Amino acid sequence: MEQPEVTFTAHNGWADPPVETAPALDGQVECDVAVVGGGLAGTAAALRLAERGVDVAVLEADHCGAGASSRNAGQLSSTPGGSPELSSTLHSGRFPGLVRFSQEAVRFTEELIDRVDTDCEYEPTGNIVAAVSRGQMRKARRNGRILRKAGLELEVGRARDLGMPDSFEGGLRVNAGGVLNPAKFVLGLREELLRSDVRVFERTPVRAVEPQGAGVLVRTPMGRVRADKVLMATNAYSKALSIAPRGLAAPIWVGMVETEPVDPGRLEETGWTSRAGLATEHNIMQSYRLTRRYTVVFGVRRLHLGRGTVRDREPDAATVSGLVRGFHGQFPSLQDVAPQQAWGGWVAMTPSMLPVAGEAAENVFYAVGCNGHGLAQAPYLGTLLADRMLGDEPHRDLVPVWRDQARFGPSPILNRPALRAAWVADRLSDRLGTPSKR
Ligand SMILES: Cc1cc2nc3c(=O)[nH]c(=O)nc-3n(C[C@H](O)[C@H](O)[C@H](O)COP(=O)(O)OP(=O)(O)OC[C@H]3O[C@@H](n4cnc5c(N)ncnc54)[C@H](O)[C@@H]3O)c2cc1C
Repeated sequence: MEQPEVTFTAHNGWADPPVETAPALDGQVECDVAVVGGGLAGTAAALRLAERGVDVAVLEADHCGAGASSRNAGQLSSTPGGSPELSSTLHSGRFPGLVRFSQEAVRFTEELIDRVDTDCEYEPTGNIVAAVSRGQMRKARRNGRILRKAGLELEVGRARDLGMPDSFEGGLRVNAGGVLNPAKFVLGLREELLRSDVRVFERTPVRAVEPQGAGVLVRTPMGRVRADKVLMATNAYSKALSIAPRGLAAPIWVGMVETEPVDPGRLEETGWTSRAGLATEHNIMQSYRLTRRYTVVFGVRRLHLGRGTVRDREPDAATVSGLVRGFHGQFPSLQDVAPQQAWGGWVAMTPSMLPVAGEAAENVFYAVGCNGHGLAQAPYLGTLLADRMLGDEPHRDLVPVWRDQARFGPSPILNRPALRAAWVADRLSDRLGTPSKR
């Protein structure tokens, strides 16, 4: 097996963690709203609540931004997530609302990027759902029709027309959104949070959330918080809290790899003139994007299902080799470009592959499961939920993701045999679809 020379990290590959963390909770605190989890969802929600004059405390197990929010591929995308063909059939009534939610999420997050006092390297390049074979191109055309009907502005075309590498067949391009450095973005939001009136407690894992009388008690190793309301923004880590709705989301670990810097001329020669982020039409998508440091970051391709409490982990050699093989296969002119570093993170995958929010118990709200689209969707969802918690009429974009019942059925795809079968089907279709490329 190919053993790439690559630095494996349990952190993220985008930016160093903060040198200092906010103090852990030690003792008892009272507040209007306690936010559990300081990723994009929790941070954005806390900032919104504070703006509206609410006394907020954020309780974060690590440092704010340490989860998926700093580890992702940085593709700010306005497609809803999951398969449009499937979602528009299974959730036909709310599908146009989900598409509008995803579009508005990008608009909202772009405004947040402007507001955050940091350069997160945002490039408004748009993103492309990329086809690697004729079969995937047909799928892209079908999905394009469905998404356009639901209100998304997009174009479907051949690789050269879309400014994507000519080793792809073509794809579906959405001009809204782009690519950014996700760790710089979320750490910028963290700084904003630390400057605000929000009380931030880092290195404070919440052990239990218990409704009590008219409020909620939150227990941590060295303290407790009495709050009127709690927002759980714990994403893939939610299972550790018994109050989280059962079956809401499965923790899935995905790997990312960054190459060594590549000569800009060589990158341009691939045909990737738009610099748009790419996500393929495989059952388990593969993502590719360019960075400002002239590297290519790619990932996903294989999903690892977590059991019980999930912990940070380094990528394993087999996962990285698979990703590198996929990259070299898809970019034949960059066969000599070596991987430089690898990392990964936990995503919360919902059975519908769509975002979801609701009330887990009286006064305990949750916003989890933005799947692989949370860079735009998680901060928007957190903000909409914050407004809802203050008694506002549900925003029209919250309605399609809101669940009245905190009950979720088992997913036929979120189990090991199904994930393995999806991966095998992808590799088979790669061989049959475009044998010369992989
Ligand atoms: C490798 C990878 C690539 C991805 N690529 C993309 C992409 O290109 N585009 C895109 O849109 N999305 C992408 N995603 C998904 C996106 O990153 C997530 O949907 C989004 O970051 C979720 O934000 P969040 O705030 O809900 O969760 P997180 O960022 O995971 O935040 C949850 C926080 O809660 C804290 N926490 C959990 N449990 C507790 C507890 N009990 N007590 C206290 N704190 C707790 C955690 O420490 C963490 O900081 C990717 C994800 C990964 C992992």
